[in-house]
Amino acid sequence: ARPVEEAGSAVQVPALPIQERVQLAHEIARRRTFAIISHPDAGKTTITEKLLLYGGAIQQAGSVTAHAGTAHTKSDWMSIEQQRGISISSSALTFEFAGRHINLLDTPGHQDFSEDTYRTLAAADSALMVLDAARGVQAQTEKLFAVCKNRGIPILTFVNKLDRPAQDIFELLEGLENTLGITAIPLTWPIGDGPDFKGVYDLVAKQVLLFERVARGKSRAPVSVKSVDDPELGALVGAALHAKLQEDVALIEGAMPPFDHAAFLAGELTPVFFGSAMNNFGIEHFLSTFVELAPAPGAVKTTLGVRPPEAGFTGFIFKLQANMSRNHRDRTAFMRVASGHFVRGMDVTHTRTGRKLRLSQAHTLFAQEREKVEDAYPGDIVGLVNPGVFRIGDVVSVDAKVQLPDFPRFTPEVFATMSLRDVTKRKAFQKGLDQLSEEGVVQVFYPTDGARDPYLGAVGPLQFEVFQARLQEEYGVEIEMHITSYSLVRWLAGDDSQVARFARSVEDDQGRPVMLFRSNFDLQYTQDQNPEIEFLPLPKDL
Ligand code: GDP
Repeated sequence: ARPVEEAGSAVQVPALPIQERVQLAHEIARRRTFAIISHPDAGKTTITEKLLLYGGAIQQAGSVTAHAGTAHTKSDWMSIEQQRGISISSSALTFEFAGRHINLLDTPGHQDFSEDTYRTLAAADSALMVLDAARGVQAQTEKLFAVCKNRGIPILTFVNKLDRPAQDIFELLEGLENTLGITAIPLTWPIGDGPDFKGVYDLVAKQVLLFERVARGKSRAPVSVKSVDDPELGALVGAALHAKLQEDVALIEGAMPPFDHAAFLAGELTPVFFGSAMNNFGIEHFLSTFVELAPAPGAVKTTLGVRPPEAGFTGFIFKLQANMSRNHRDRTAFMRVASGHFVRGMDVTHTRTGRKLRLSQAHTLFAQEREKVEDAYPGDIVGLVNPGVFRIGDVVSVDAKVQLPDFPRFTPEVFATMSLRDVTKRKAFQKGLDQLSEEGVVQVFYPTDGARDPYLGAVGPLQFEVFQARLQEEYGVEIEMHITSYSLVRWLAGDDSQVARFARSVEDDQGRPVMLFRSNFDLQYTQDQNPEIEFLPLPKDL
């Protein structure tokens, strides 16, 4: 956990009966909430399956993927995901391992920027970065890494696909350090790669985990352990690889700084593991190290001061999703518990509006199934039925006034116009537009003359495709979309009368005046001409 004292005044922890206090502390200490970041195809889905296999959360590896055939898939409610073979929604998968309660936040892994991914990372305490051993750090990894780094969350690295020809490992680590600006410390080391992959050397326990090829990862791979100096090892992996390993290990032990847990927690150092997810190799070792290294839920910065996880119940909404499944055509708000003990049916305040709410409709989601959640602890993700009050970044709490000051918000960078194919569908269109923009699928900007259809704004163009597909799928509305040449939006601020006098024609969904620009040059020019007006990348009153 991050140190509380550092960040200013701390919120009072309620005086609970001793048993409850002990229970709360115990549950917090055993929580690990993390997300996986990777470039598409590096193996995130495969690793997720294998992790769940160890957690006993699913019986058969394969039931998480969209390629799984008969088994229910967690994302088969959305056909665009199947068509493109990508996962667009984020949800949390929960499993137990070694006495720890692990929440794995599922982040979409596609080429595009997506606001959804970033928001999900706001609910994680650590991240696992998965790299393809042949490719090292790739574009999407870099972007997602930057978000983690920005939030200061610790990152672990798993280098996958060692059963295929890999880059030189020293070069791979150097590339990682240079591209990402983080110290990389291997905790295991691969012996060979591709057809010659023999296993990994555990640099901490000084043991060898031998790789045995098993039928396509359907069961736990057998792992035997030997000492590195065991002469038998030479016979097992071959004299050449044995000699290379001894040389590599000498180099690592001589030249690399030791693993520093504090630097890891500060996001300055990443421990690196090697393996093959498809062959279920290196996963169990990773998982058992992960639960020791990764932090439990820590304190969060709020408008009322730093809130330790032991404080009274507080949760924040990091994701909204309508129409989660065909069986449940309603809206779900995903809440991360930030502090205290959540009990279903408890009375809280929705702090943005001051409204009292009773949280009686709480559930977890797993595949198509919903399970009622009776209680939850810091780090846990709870799905709340959303009667339309929740927005992303909202807080529910036993303390009426607490808010989150720095929940990530995004300024759109691509803008589209759209036209309705069948104008008799206007009502359904407006409903879809309202709900999907509330979810944050896209942001909507309305021309104030009311004559034209709204502009849609997004961080990446894939969001438009998702919007279009979901409008059709869930609201039966077909639209055509055209990407415009606008690339900037600015919220106008300043003296009310001056802003009002300033020629403007577009506002956001809350009626705040905005202006769209085609280039930085346009923005600069307009700013120079109108020095009395502020042009802000986000609304001032968020
Ligand atoms: P994601 O896009 O990051 O979720 O990647 P997937 O888990 O879907 O994996 C992409 C492809 O790589 C799939 O065809 C996997 O079967 C394959 N794959 C995953 N892990 C390994 C591995 O350890 N070795 C090999 N050879 N292939 C793998």
